[in-house]
Amino acid sequence: MYFPSWLSQLYRGLSRPIRRTTQPIWGSLSRSLVLSSQRRNPEFSSFVVRTNTCGELRSSHLGQEVTLCGWIQYRRQNTFLVLRDFHGLVQVIIPQDESAASVRKILCEAPMESVVQVSGTVISRPAGQENPKMPTGEIEIKVKTAELLNACKKLPFEIKDFMKKTEALRLQYRYLDLRSFQMQYNLRLRSQMVMKMREYLCNLHGFVDIETPTLFKRTPGGAKEFLVPSREPGKFYSLPQSPQQFKQLLMVGGLDRYFQVARCYRDEGSRPDRQPEFTQIDIEMSFVDQTGIQSLIEGLLQYSWPNDKNPVVVPFPSMTFAEALATYGTDKPDTRFGMKIIDISDVFRNTEIGFLQDALSKPHGTVKAICIPEGAKYFKRKDIESIRKFSADHFDQCSLLGKLRLECADLLETRGVVLRDPTLFSFLWVVDFPLFLPKEENPRELESAHHPFTAPHPSDIHLLYTEPKKVRSQHYDLVLNGNEIGGGSIRIHNAELQQYILATLLKEDVKLLSHMLQALDYGAPPHGGIALGLDRLICVVTGSPSIRDVIAFPKSFRGHDLMSNTPDSIPPEELKPYHIQVSWPTDSKAAKAH
Ligand code: ASP
Repeated sequence: MYFPSWLSQLYRGLSRPIRRTTQPIWGSLSRSLVLSSQRRNPEFSSFVVRTNTCGELRSSHLGQEVTLCGWIQYRRQNTFLVLRDFHGLVQVIIPQDESAASVRKILCEAPMESVVQVSGTVISRPAGQENPKMPTGEIEIKVKTAELLNACKKLPFEIKDFMKKTEALRLQYRYLDLRSFQMQYNLRLRSQMVMKMREYLCNLHGFVDIETPTLFKRTPGGAKEFLVPSREPGKFYSLPQSPQQFKQLLMVGGLDRYFQVARCYRDEGSRPDRQPEFTQIDIEMSFVDQTGIQSLIEGLLQYSWPNDKNPVVVPFPSMTFAEALATYGTDKPDTRFGMKIIDISDVFRNTEIGFLQDALSKPHGTVKAICIPEGAKYFKRKDIESIRKFSADHFDQCSLLGKLRLECADLLETRGVVLRDPTLFSFLWVVDFPLFLPKEENPRELESAHHPFTAPHPSDIHLLYTEPKKVRSQHYDLVLNGNEIGGGSIRIHNAELQQYILATLLKEDVKLLSHMLQALDYGAPPHGGIALGLDRLICVVTGSPSIRDVIAFPKSFRGHDLMSNTPDSIPPEELKPYHIQVSWPTDSKAAKAH
């Protein structure tokens, strides 16, 4: 797990006495979140009772009368108190004189994490007691009045320690977890990046921000969709896995540069980098080709990139799907490090080693290797054993070598070798995907590698009618540090071709898409687009261990909201209007619990 050094120092710093601490304390959050092209600072204290934020006060404010609101972070010997808001920390002196007994009582008795309002004067700290590592470390607040806005009961965990707690506990008390510096940083950075993206797309490049429905109908192929019952017997809405159809229909409607921060839903079960509901930066343009979309995205990311991060270097390199599989064993290679897969079949052409002979005698049989730099130095016998076991467990997957490469990288990193610097951003376009892949459940049938609206590569169109498996597509994926953070394609805008692909090659029920086919026939312009997975992107930018760390209220690994206990049961009478009855599995825990 990666944390910027100032953040980990912050947490160490917080557990020390205030006067004597030499560690930096809560850096100025808003200061560290300046985006490349931000010109003016926002006004954080307009419309509210505070005059300033806790983190903004400096020597330049000396003598000013201020009102601050925040949470009690720390108190020492009933003399000092540290007040926290999103912007940072400030030290408040608890008055000791008799005349201020009521103020002292409030500030000494309020439990940690209570929310208080204090008014007083900004004074300089006594000489020698400044804290150069704390942004507000030159000053403190001499309090005149204090008000307990709301007391805090005993917390299930300390805010500053939240990272050490189980994720289940963090999700159950998400509203407290959100007070942590890390969540504040991640969500504010996300908001600022999205704002810059809007600015780039709408203000600089004339895109139109359009909302599309979330109550829609089933789309053939692709991910499993969530169903929403309707009051018409047996009829359901589906939550869209993406606004794909709508954005294409917007092109037919002449809204030729569309964008949306779009909510998408996929009922795909749990995986570490997925959520059942997630957000895409969804884009579509008319009269564009692949290079046009790629340049747009490179410019968009460069423009919205936080400038406290390593910069984005454009243009991004590009690699074909075939090359990615051959050299990295995956279509989302982490190009921050080498250890590429090398074909060494020729070396073993005349070998007498049985299993290699055997492999090479098979059609398309190859012998491939990964060279692990200084592997002999770092790997112990038990490591080699675990690699062997990993290979045996994943033997039937052709992505085995790609997985093995990452497994070896993990092992090397546990030995202290830095292979994947989390502060580096290695973007890569993967292009020339096949248009179709064999269906997982029935490899003799085809499914779209991207989605059924993706256009074939112009030079391969003739193969559609003879060898469809060989057709390359105009589909491109954007990969960042080994994560697929975006994907898109140039679309089919010819109804006949779309109908042929859907009905003849994919064997889909075209009735479900008759509106699309009809629209393509009414002067649909050539068009293409892309969607960036916002959660994954922000996760990589912030170096977070999980996408749940960049979503305010995420679902758990199993798709549950642990705070509100969602999904929840509905009484049978409330299901009646939807003509739905639950058929309880007889042996399941769910039935027993009911
Ligand atoms: N709708 C596609 C997706 O969600 C992206 C695109 O083709 O624009 O992957």
